[in-house]
Amino acid sequence: MTTDPSSTIVACRICESAKITPVLDLGRQALANSLRRERADTLPTYPLIICRCDECGTIQLTETVAPEILFMDYVWVTGTSEGARDYSRVFCERLVSRCRAGPLFVIEIASNDGTFLKRFVERGDRVLGVDPAQNIAAMAERDGVRTLPEFFGLEVAKGIVERSGEADAVFARNVIPHVANANDVVAGMAHCLKADGTGAIEFHRADVILEELHYDSIYHEHLYFHSLHSIGRLLSRVGLTPFDVTTSPISGGSFVVYFSKIKRPRTPAFTAAVRAEDALGTGRPEPWQEFAQRCERHRKMLRSLVEAKKAEGKRIIGYGASARSSTMLNYCGIDSRLLDVIVDRAPLKHDAYTPGTNVLIVPPDRAFDLKPDVILLLAWNFRDEIFAQIRAEHGWRGQVIMPLPGDPTVVDFE
Ligand SMILES: [Zn+2]
Repeated sequence: MTTDPSSTIVACRICESAKITPVLDLGRQALANSLRRERADTLPTYPLIICRCDECGTIQLTETVAPEILFMDYVWVTGTSEGARDYSRVFCERLVSRCRAGPLFVIEIASNDGTFLKRFVERGDRVLGVDPAQNIAAMAERDGVRTLPEFFGLEVAKGIVERSGEADAVFARNVIPHVANANDVVAGMAHCLKADGTGAIEFHRADVILEELHYDSIYHEHLYFHSLHSIGRLLSRVGLTPFDVTTSPISGGSFVVYFSKIKRPRTPAFTAAVRAEDALGTGRPEPWQEFAQRCERHRKMLRSLVEAKKAEGKRIIGYGASARSSTMLNYCGIDSRLLDVIVDRAPLKHDAYTPGTNVLIVPPDRAFDLKPDVILLLAWNFRDEIFAQIRAEHGWRGQVIMPLPGDPTVVDFE
C-alpha cells in the first residue's frame, strides 16, 4: 500500500466548511525535522500556507503531509530540555489537583520519551503512554513507562479501555494541533475518560502567536493554531466541556485547558481568559490579515540585520536546530552563507544539516571553539535557559540577535 505524501485541503478539517481563506504563505519548504546526514541529499518540499475557516474560525495549514512521513523517526525528545523536565512536575501537580484523591490511572497521548508520565509513576499512579514514534516509544519502555507504539484515535482508545479500563486522567500536550483528524483524537480521549475523570490539552495559544508574531511555529507538523474558542468547539463535538485553564511557558506561551464529561463550574481564570481572547480578536479575520503583513516586514528586518553583521566581518552562529528554527531560516533566507554552524544539545542532531538551509549542526563546545562574534538565538523561547548555560559553560561575550517575540533586537551579552 502506498500513501500520497501530501494533499491540500478543500474544506476545514474540523467543521468541514468549504469556506477557507489563505492567511500567510511561507513558500515551499522541506519538512522541518528532516535533518540530513549528507549535505548533498535533496529533500522534497511542500507548500507551507496557513488559512482560516470562515465558518468556525480555526486557523490551519492548507497542506496535510502524511503522518507516516512526518512522525515515524521523530528526533525531538522531550527529556533533552531541562525546562521540559522542570515543567513536567508543575504540569503533574496541576492536573492531579483537578482529579479525585488516591492513585490514578493516567493516559498520555503522544507521550514521547515518557518524561511527563514519569512524574505520575513517582506518585504511584498507573500510567500508559501512546506514541507512534517507535524508536522513542521503545526508549520510554526501557525507562519503565508503559508505551503503546500507535497513532491514537477512537479505535486505539477502545482497545485500551477493553484491556486496561477507563482512565481518571487523560492528557495530550502539543499533539491536538498536530493531527489532521483531531476529531478522532478527542473522540478517543472522551472514550478513555471516566465519567468523573479530568482531561487536559496543552497547545501553543493563537492569541500569543498573533500578538508576538510566532510565525516560526508554522511548520508541516503543526496543522492547527488553536484558541480557547476553537478548542472548546472541538471538545463540545464529542460531549466534553472545558472548565479551567492554566498557562505555561512552553513554545513561548501555551494554554492548558482542563475538561470533563460531567459539566463542572467554569473557573474565574477560564472566564477571564476567554474574555481576553475576545478582546484581542483572535476569532476574527482582520487581525490575521494584519499578522501576515507584520510577518513579511519581520522577515525583511531580520534578514537585513544578519546580513549587516556578516558584512561587518562578524562570525555568526545559530542556536537551536528546532522545527521552528527551520521555518524561520527558510522563510527569511538565512542559510549556510550567513551562519557558520547551528548549536544544538541533542546528540541525535549532531553532524546533520538543516533542511533547505544547509547549516551544519554541532554540540555547544564545537561551536564556541569557532569563537563566534554573534549568536542568532533561533530557540528564542528558551532564552533564559540558554543564556544560563552559555554563562556557566562557555564564558562567551558578544552580541545576541533575538529574532522574536515581536521585532528583532540585538542584546549585548557579557
Ligand atoms: Zn471550520
